[in-house]
Amino acid sequence: MVIMRILVVEDEHKIANALKQGLEQHSYAVDVAYDGDSGLTMAQTEPYDLIILDRMLPGSIDGIGILQAIRKENIHTPVLLLTAKDKVLDRAHGLNAGADDYLVKPFAFVELIARVRALLRRTPQTTNTFLTYEDLMLDPENMLVERKGQRIDLTAKEFALLEYFMRHNERILAKDLLMQHVWNYDADILPNTVEVYVGYLRNKIDKPFKGQHFIHTKRGFGYYFGVQK
Ligand code: CA
Repeated sequence: MVIMRILVVEDEHKIANALKQGLEQHSYAVDVAYDGDSGLTMAQTEPYDLIILDRMLPGSIDGIGILQAIRKENIHTPVLLLTAKDKVLDRAHGLNAGADDYLVKPFAFVELIARVRALLRRTPQTTNTFLTYEDLMLDPENMLVERKGQRIDLTAKEFALLEYFMRHNERILAKDLLMQHVWNYDADILPNTVEVYVGYLRNKIDKPFKGQHFIHTKRGFGYYFGVQK
């Protein structure tokens, strides 16, 4: 199963944390930004499946500003806008700015989860397409991995790690980042868990194949996935 990633941008910590906890219980992976500026940066740099965006935010940019900025950059991640004001004008404003749906505060969590599900169903998921890197192919929908046309069997965790590597190829990824994104809500992660799983993955996708290895250790930083340049 592919884990859906949701970004919550909400300055009220109580609401943000309740959303994170509730969504994680529904098996979503959740990141939280507590102000507009970090919310915008995360929305621009991470491949989320959905963004839950509060309208009123501290910082130099509010929810509408973030929405306009990402749409301008052709980021079409579905956005559920949270707004404290129930004015017709506001709704129109939010939807015009590129929101896919909105929810008026205060709202019940069951209502939010229904909207989240509807939005995730509605949009064609990026996970429907194959990911390829050189002679490596990953099919997120069918949990299939092949290298040089040869099928490779991975566990769910190895698969999630490889998918993250392939989506973020040719850059250095800190161990903490991997821990946060691939293990997200596993409470019992040990400090060496990432190394252990990277080792498993290496034994399956690199070692049996002649030629280029894709997983490289960057001592003191983390890992690099890709052809060494
Ligand atoms: Ca707010």
